[in-house]
Amino acid sequence: MCQRAIYPGSFDPITYGHIDLIKRAQEIFSEVIVAVARNPYKRLLFSPAERVDMVKKATAGFRGVMVEEFDGLVVDYALKKKAKVLIRGLRMISDFEYEFQMALTNRKLKADIETIFLMPQESYSYLSSRLIKEAASLGADLSFFVPDFVEEALKKKLDENQGKPDTI
Ligand code: ADP
Repeated sequence: MCQRAIYPGSFDPITYGHIDLIKRAQEIFSEVIVAVARNPYKRLLFSPAERVDMVKKATAGFRGVMVEEFDGLVVDYALKKKAKVLIRGLRMISDFEYEFQMALTNRKLKADIETIFLMPQESYSYLSSRLIKEAASLGADLSFFVPDFVEEALKKKLDENQGKPDTI
């Protein structure tokens, strides 16, 4: 039986949607490693260290949850960590095609690693880091989407970047 799962992602920044998924994964696996991709194939607002710090803060006190940065193929990272399960989230139909392709590609690369999809609480099912960055740049109240310290970090970062979400 597999006791350890990896939840990989960019977490740019972590949202209540990600946090909801981590809590669900924690109910199933005795150890969950939240793996923050150092340089994913997209432009990000926060540095790897900033993203890791925010995930650590958001999951402080969560039983069996660890946070690490990783580079390269997630399946290689999972093997290194002796984990056989990858957790990914499914929000709506729009996630499905990309996530399906990625899960099957990862399976082709390492046949014994399974991807398990979890769905968030409905009220978080439309939340994405990208949308939150856009909303933050327009001055929206983010209290329903992200923890306070993430909202503050977003405002500070966007001020530094003169209000432009450096993303997508
Ligand atoms: P990536 O760049 O790997 O897609 P993200 O941080 O955007 O990284 O997302 C990591 C995983 O978490 C993905 O599987 C994504 O679908 C999932 N996810 C992100 N936001 C939510 C949400 N609101 N509800 C459920 N899953 C989510």
